[in-house]
Amino acid sequence: MIAEEIHKITSQLPKGVRLVAVSKYHPTEAIREAFNASQRLFGESHAQELQRKHAELADLEAEGLEWHFIGHLQTNKVKYIAPYVSLIHSADSLHLLEEINRQALKAGRIIRCLMQLHVAAEETKFGFTPDEGLTFLEGGAWQQLNGIEFAGVMAMATNTDDLAHRQADFHRARLFFEQAQRDYFPQSFKELSMGMTDDWHLAVDEGATIIRIGTQIFGERIYT
Ligand SMILES: *Cc1c(COP(=O)(O)O)cnc(C)c1O
Repeated sequence: MIAEEIHKITSQLPKGVRLVAVSKYHPTEAIREAFNASQRLFGESHAQELQRKHAELADLEAEGLEWHFIGHLQTNKVKYIAPYVSLIHSADSLHLLEEINRQALKAGRIIRCLMQLHVAAEETKFGFTPDEGLTFLEGGAWQQLNGIEFAGVMAMATNTDDLAHRQADFHRARLFFEQAQRDYFPQSFKELSMGMTDDWHLAVDEGATIIRIGTQIFGERIYT
């Protein structure tokens, strides 16, 4: 099942678009199964859960497994994941970026981060609105953050059946990505992370370079 779904998805992805298998709330056996089906990038959204899986799957990390952090990250949890996380999709404030920077320097590495953009209609989702994102970039404080590589943008669309609405959300994320790439990060901005189980085809059409899929691969999550 897991292997079939991964193959089904990856065989439809244009060249250069990568799949992050979102393994949050799923056991490490499921991650091993996906790894055996050639999946290498895994997304987690809770620092403690990632910390436990990192310890349990050290053997796979040695063979190329990479962890992406995709959920809201509290500043006091950054230290747990800074030594090994491969990409943080959910950088949503200067305050958080400053702490990631501090922990990156402490760990002797540069951590790749995506600016999380808030383009969805829901109030509860984290991230910079496009206007806040531009203000953040114009402010320039980020230039001090030598432990961070600004690698692109992550966004989620509004949770709605109206696909045109979701597409418009993705489109706004893409416009922000392109503007920030042109004006601030012509070298380092490479990733546009958007698209989940219900909308990844739309996101790919709008230029996503990373899609994040959980349910389609691993089934429904059981929240305990
Ligand atoms: C859980 C999660 C996903 C995966 O969602 P599915 O609908 O299960 O594919 C993707 N991105 C983020 C940020 C998530 O928190």
